[in-house]
Amino acid sequence: MNSRSKLVKKLDKVFSKFIRERDRSCLYCGKKENLQCAHIVPRTYLNLRWDERNCITLCYRHHLYWAHKDPLEFTAWVNKKFPGLEEYLNKKKNEHVKYDKAKIEELLEVYLDKVKNIDRLYD
Ligand SMILES: [Zn+2]
Repeated sequence: MNSRSKLVKKLDKVFSKFIRERDRSCLYCGKKENLQCAHIVPRTYLNLRWDERNCITLCYRHHLYWAHKDPLEFTAWVNKKFPGLEEYLNKKKNEHVKYDKAKIEELLEVYLDKVKNIDRLYD
């Protein structure tokens, strides 16, 4: 049986793969290597942790040495690039959603399926 933390880890992995395959390159510099899934609102907010609108693909360098190092500049860039996103994220950030095991299992299934069908979705 899977524990909740194991499921969260698994979902993080699949979700990250989905985001990277969706974007295919660093949205900041266009590089296609060493890509990571970057959260706009930190993933400690569970109701935005697996929200596709809260995640973008960045290369390792821009994720760790730009977005994480200078969150204010990163947020300003995001808001300029995606008008209206900030309002959406701020609203959703404070909603109370319960992420029990069943809900996480359900999301895991959704994203396993999305990753499997990614070429059909985005080509
Ligand atoms: Zn980059």
